[in-house]
Amino acid sequence: MTSCKWLCAVLAGALLAVGASLPAQAQPPADPLVGAPGLGDPYYPDDGNGGYHVGHYAVAIDYDPPTHKLTGNARLDAVSTQPLRMFDLDFNGPAVQQVSVNNLPAGFARIGDHKLNITPALPILPGLPFTVTVRYSGIEANSSDHGWTISPSGGAFAAGEPHSAATWYPLNDTPLDKATFDLTVTVPQEWQVISNGLRVRDEVHGPQRTVQWATQHPVLGYLTTVAIDHLDFLNQRRANGMPLISAFAARAVARKDIERRLPEVLDFLESLYGPYPFESGGGIYVDTDLPFSLETQTRPIYAPWATLHTVVHENTHQWWGDSMSVKNWSDVCLNECFASYTADYLWPERKEGKDVDAQYRSTLTRERNRPEYWQTRLQNPGAGKEFTSVYSRGPLFLHALRRLIGDGVFFPSVAQFVRSHAYGNASMPEFRQYMQSRTPVDLSGFFADWLDGATRPADRYLYPGSLHT
Ligand SMILES: [Zn+2]
Repeated sequence: MTSCKWLCAVLAGALLAVGASLPAQAQPPADPLVGAPGLGDPYYPDDGNGGYHVGHYAVAIDYDPPTHKLTGNARLDAVSTQPLRMFDLDFNGPAVQQVSVNNLPAGFARIGDHKLNITPALPILPGLPFTVTVRYSGIEANSSDHGWTISPSGGAFAAGEPHSAATWYPLNDTPLDKATFDLTVTVPQEWQVISNGLRVRDEVHGPQRTVQWATQHPVLGYLTTVAIDHLDFLNQRRANGMPLISAFAARAVARKDIERRLPEVLDFLESLYGPYPFESGGGIYVDTDLPFSLETQTRPIYAPWATLHTVVHENTHQWWGDSMSVKNWSDVCLNECFASYTADYLWPERKEGKDVDAQYRSTLTRERNRPEYWQTRLQNPGAGKEFTSVYSRGPLFLHALRRLIGDGVFFPSVAQFVRSHAYGNASMPEFRQYMQSRTPVDLSGFFADWLDGATRPADRYLYPGSLHT
């Protein structure tokens, strides 16, 4: 995610409000036959659910732009990890009409702000595949800061981090449960649809268009998306033939010039981090005044203020965030420090001839005596502060680390780290341990000052190598 600076404070305030309303700790159910209603993330403890893993989502929605009515039928193919007489999904979308488990009607209740509690007709035995189907329908409200969003045309799109998907389909909403995803969307025939992965169907029957998109690789909930609008498409291919499909809302068509550089951006990122991890790429350029752009998988969503550097940032996330995802939201530096460093330092250095050591030193000169600049930790910044210091100090941290251990260690090591966690999860403690294993330089003090500290690091860690003044 990248935020536009003037709205960062608003967004951080909204996230803080969300975080503040959460219980300090998820309460595991006393009943061993009930899946836990939360997985204990340090910031969002009631996100996700215990007792099962989802392997695939097959979501079908109908959306009617004039009325904003959203009707859905979501099928989840899951495997139980314990006996289940009851379990939860995360969902805060339209009214639920029917829930089935293994094709038998199931009991259900909506609990709190995002839990759909399900009681199967027959308890589920551990270790077995099972299928959940949820039917829902209603006039979907325009979410204020995340999830389902009505565009100026009356179309809609989904975007938000860490929460978005639960506003338009039910899921296990946690970074720890990736699944493949396919989406079938039916709209009035004059509207177009774009989503993640590849388009496998686009048919017009009478007044209606039905479009299906599917992913070949697993994806997290907040990284799934859909945009329904009067879209103008840009179809490109990488040199290896991979399709790059991009879409532009009416007032965003001028931004095609930025997106035409996507093949060059992906080549550059491959040279840093190894093969692009997905089967397709592209982007979605909305004309809604979004306060952020977002790394939705294979198809980032761009706000009207997005620049070429935003394209570099969101596509860096395809490696750092999407293919390799955080274990907990306290690990967010793995996503944002790398995306910001790549867009703010590596692209300007390698593609625009910028002196990034000078850029680093001038930033330090400006910020070294401002305690508030240093007070939010990069690792474990605190609930509601995930999307703050990682954008400003994250690039400084990685530039100092690179200068401390040298390019010959830094670049192969970070590429190997992200590649070894492809399609999975990783944590900041794992990153620290791995980088230490790659160099004889003792990194303990450096990491403690830069990542755990709430004050400016010692000068010997601020000015290693060529940064020394
Ligand atoms: Zn980002």
